[in-house]
Amino acid sequence: MKLVDLHTHTTASDGLHRPADNVRMAREAGLHAVGITDHDTVAGIDEAEIAGKKLGVEVVPGVEISTAEDGKDIHILGYYIDRRNPVLLERLASQRQVRNVRNEGIIANLNRLGIPITMAEVERVAGRSGDGDETVGRPHIAEALVRRGAVSSVQEAFDKYLAKGKPAYFNPPRISPFEAVQWIHEAGGKAVVAHPGLYGRDELVERLLDAGADGVEAYHSDHSPEQAEHYRRMAEARGKLVTAGSDFHGERKGGGVYHGPIGNRTVDAGILEQLRR
Ligand code: AMP
Ligand code: ZN
Ligand code: FE
Ligand code: FE
Repeated sequence: MKLVDLHTHTTASDGLHRPADNVRMAREAGLHAVGITDHDTVAGIDEAEIAGKKLGVEVVPGVEISTAEDGKDIHILGYYIDRRNPVLLERLASQRQVRNVRNEGIIANLNRLGIPITMAEVERVAGRSGDGDETVGRPHIAEALVRRGAVSSVQEAFDKYLAKGKPAYFNPPRISPFEAVQWIHEAGGKAVVAHPGLYGRDELVERLLDAGADGVEAYHSDHSPEQAEHYRRMAEARGKLVTAGSDFHGERKGGGVYHGPIGNRTVDAGILEQLRR
């Protein structure tokens, strides 16, 4: 059986491993294909494809777009988007701009709380020089907090400061998930609602599907078997696609493998033809 894991992060966003390393791990896990789905960027895909050709692993070009609805973060996965599409690239650049404003806001909040952390420090953790298309995320801020001894683990950084409702949390207005679905379609891709079990907003997931989203990530590292079954049925009842992803990020200090190792959740490779259609 040919299996695919459709959701992994690399150093182009908040993953800890280079795109080529994700592809190597996919091969070691015996996968036929691996999705590269970094937050608000397609910067990791070229390297992954080169590695994929060398190693005999198919690379599924993707992106995970950060959106919000009623103050809740909702992630929309896009597959087989035309990653040279200038409109898409401009839209992703605007996403990264919002992200930078967001990161500055979080850092300002941390400063107010008496932690003199700087953007330069966070960029150093992320390995950014400042001019690329890679994104900086909260896990990088969390790791910077660990390095300066403000907390003892990435999880503690989220639990104490960075998670929604915690004192350093800040989220500027985001595009809606409906808009992200449209962006992906306009770039020729298929749109899939990422990890619906993390939202507690099933009516929104259903509305997204009815509004044109192409599928649901029913199988995700943080979903129970019951949740997977529930979302599989939700998608199938509407004739939508059912996808699977580990949401691999690598292992951060004291954080475990977030959300799971490559190949942790897989779906039959037959899905690729439907995503490409
Ligand atoms: P960002 O897109 O910068 O807001 O960062 C989102 C990422 O942070 C997610 O993809 C997860 O990898 C991580 N994350 C979000 N919430 C938590 C949490 N409560 N604990 C640990 N990691 C989290
Ligand atoms: Zn992430
Ligand atoms: Fe996500
Ligand atoms: Fe993700």
